[in-house]
Amino acid sequence: MDTMSPITPHKEINAWAKSRIRDDEITRYLNHGQSFLNEARIVHTLRAQKNPDPAQVEAILQKSLAIQTLTLEETAILLNVTDPALRARMEAVAGQVKQQVYDNRIVTFAPLYLGNLCVNECAYCGFRCSNTQLERSVLSLDQVRRETEVLTGKIGHKRLIVVYGEHPRMDVQYMIDSLKAIGDVRVETRRGTWSQIHRCNVNAPPLQIEELKRLKEVGIGTFQVFQETYHRATYARLHPSHTLKGHYLWRLYSMHRAMEAGVDDVGIGALFGLYDWRFEVMGLIAHANELEQRFGVGPHTISFPRMEDVPNTPFVKQTDWKVDDESFRQLVTVIRLAVPHTGMILTARETAEVRRQILPLGCTQMDASSRIGLCSYDRSDRVGQNQDAQTQQFMLGDTRSLDAVIRELAEAGFITSFCTAGYRCGRTGSRIMEMLKCGKEGNLCKLNAVITYREWLDDFASPETRAAGEKVIAKEIELIRQTLPDVYEYFMTYYQKTQDGERDLFF
Ligand code: SF4
Repeated sequence: MDTMSPITPHKEINAWAKSRIRDDEITRYLNHGQSFLNEARIVHTLRAQKNPDPAQVEAILQKSLAIQTLTLEETAILLNVTDPALRARMEAVAGQVKQQVYDNRIVTFAPLYLGNLCVNECAYCGFRCSNTQLERSVLSLDQVRRETEVLTGKIGHKRLIVVYGEHPRMDVQYMIDSLKAIGDVRVETRRGTWSQIHRCNVNAPPLQIEELKRLKEVGIGTFQVFQETYHRATYARLHPSHTLKGHYLWRLYSMHRAMEAGVDDVGIGALFGLYDWRFEVMGLIAHANELEQRFGVGPHTISFPRMEDVPNTPFVKQTDWKVDDESFRQLVTVIRLAVPHTGMILTARETAEVRRQILPLGCTQMDASSRIGLCSYDRSDRVGQNQDAQTQQFMLGDTRSLDAVIRELAEAGFITSFCTAGYRCGRTGSRIMEMLKCGKEGNLCKLNAVITYREWLDDFASPETRAAGEKVIAKEIELIRQTLPDVYEYFMTYYQKTQDGERDLFF
């Protein structure tokens, strides 16, 4: 691979690592020296809510249906439900809540890993620095452009999650340069129209406030840092204290720093399989509630990846906390009910079958045609390679093409939205959350979903997928005619222009 040299002198790495953590960018958020994550309270609340009363559960479900955020106590009650009939009721309501806030839209995206260098030593990760079985590198800007050309020009993606490791070779300047390189790529499609990535979400290590301000200037979508586990003792065991990631609070307050820097679309997540899944859900909801209370806006998205197979990483097989499919159903359901207006990301770590089962419980986003090996899009295009154990962090469960995923979604009645208008029109943070809560964003999203779906079907769909998509579009247009008569004519002019080959129209 024509990549940047992975060799960085140890001295340079150590000096860089020492300069990363700013104590004052943690302590300013503490309450009398304590973090918002009160473990004793979480444990006590989970124990206190055993054997919940069905009437109490129903009252909580009504609150979710009213699109209100649940308290930790209410979340604990739902996590403790064991009765199969009550669980089925919770799942049905979770689906209704999603429908109410996000309608039948699913947003798709692709992950783009820009390197696998890392200074950390997380026990569960293939990128940990002691793993000598991996081929290490960071993508050059030319490689970033080539990956982007395949992603947007051949597959048709408009939205990426760009993944960076914690290493001086992937510092904030590299982030800025690579995001600009991605944004500059504009590719002609086979139909003679053009395609471009319109939104780059960023998955990165914890950053300083000044660095986050620089990222905001470039124009990023959602900024993600996952806590991995909210349980401090487990965190300490899996992330050695001599490593950067060993600092629990530096990571925990990543989103506070982002908000302070003006990056108000943030994504939180936990890696399920490191500790008790009920505790982790409580940690996520405590985190979401803290952000909402302190900054007036909760996280834009929550991710809930389950630990999957990782080459040369024994911890993954040894953990006592693997989450089975039934528990996974319940944790997804409870997150949906607890934060009704927050986006939920179901990743291709899961198999296609699991994704089919879990999606209707309230998920709003999924990746497709995902490749997580370095330069895998460019290479898979030439050699048909799906997974690359030599360079990737873990193994994926679902490597189906975007075309296949969109066809399946269409057959199940979902419309795939490629809309990125909210972020580009400044509808982010508290503005979009308020609009989602009162249903206003839904109308704009519906119109934009249809326009962007039309684009994708015309430019990229196989004949089978296009046939399935036409049925969805016909239904959606009829719904717009019936429910939004004031804008119908105006909408149809945009729709016609898009059919005629104009691109990137949005409301
Ligand atoms: S989980 Fe992240 S920080 Fe930890 S070793 Fe892997 S890439 Fe590095």
